[in-house]
Amino acid sequence: MSRIDLHLHTTHSDGSLRPSEVLALAKQADVTTLAVTDHDITTGIPEALAAGSELGIEVIPGVEISCSTDGKGELHILGYGIQWQDPRFNERLSALRASRHRRNPMIIERLRAAGLDITYGEVQALAGTESVGRPHIAQVLMQKKYVASAREAFDRYLAEGRPAYVTRELPTPAEAIGWIREAKGIAVLAHPTWVKESSAGLPLLVSALKDAGLAGVEVHYSTHSRSDTNRYLELSRKLDLLVTGGSDFHGLTKPDIAVGTGRGGLKVSPKLLAPLKEAVARL
Ligand code: AMP
Ligand code: ZN
Ligand code: FE
Ligand code: FE
Repeated sequence: MSRIDLHLHTTHSDGSLRPSEVLALAKQADVTTLAVTDHDITTGIPEALAAGSELGIEVIPGVEISCSTDGKGELHILGYGIQWQDPRFNERLSALRASRHRRNPMIIERLRAAGLDITYGEVQALAGTESVGRPHIAQVLMQKKYVASAREAFDRYLAEGRPAYVTRELPTPAEAIGWIREAKGIAVLAHPTWVKESSAGLPLLVSALKDAGLAGVEVHYSTHSRSDTNRYLELSRKLDLLVTGGSDFHGLTKPDIAVGTGRGGLKVSPKLLAPLKEAVARL
């Protein structure tokens, strides 16, 4: 049965597989349309498009941008159908990558202060991309046997509240949404469970994001429970927002998440595509 997957990471950010390798897995999983949504970078899109035309998989150009929240957890905005070669958009993303490079050495300092032998050079070499994130640091810690998994690296060192956590400068959600719209893409709230909001607070927040130009909500997601999915489905209906979904596949750093099927139960319907494409075409 065919399915789609609108949330995938590659080696161009913190995923461990190249775009062509991700597309090969998508083919095996009967994924007919997918979006590559690397963090703060669009360089993986040409390889994905080429592999897609070879394998008969439709590729939607995407991106994922982490935003500031005033202590309310992580708020990520996905962009779909963006004009990924737009110079101004890529300058914005380049500035976000620069903020990563300002933060990451501070994380390394803290790890070194905790007695771990790690350098930022090692992390950059492993990453092999300009969009260097905490999962790359976690991978180096795994290679050096300081931790057995990326999860352990986050739980012990890298997550918020842990000894090596350092924030970086992040755009506001309204800024990220505005940049995506300027690049002729539609903006979607990623994995809403990551936002630390009460069940009464989230609709207010999402409604404010809609006023800022948000077009949709990632209702279907690898780690959503059935009741999460139903709640977000209802919220999208109420606020007249598009419904999207994806696995957030990363490869090695999230080994329990598979392309197309998430933890096994994910199934994002191709029926969601028509309204999404209409929204992109209207921009
Ligand atoms: P960064 O953008 O460099 O701050 O890293 C954040 C990324 O790390 C997120 O987008 C997730 O992909 C990943 N991440 C966050 N928390 C965890 C965790 N507990 N385990 C594995 N990966 C995580
Ligand atoms: Zn990631
Ligand atoms: Fe995310
Ligand atoms: Fe993601």
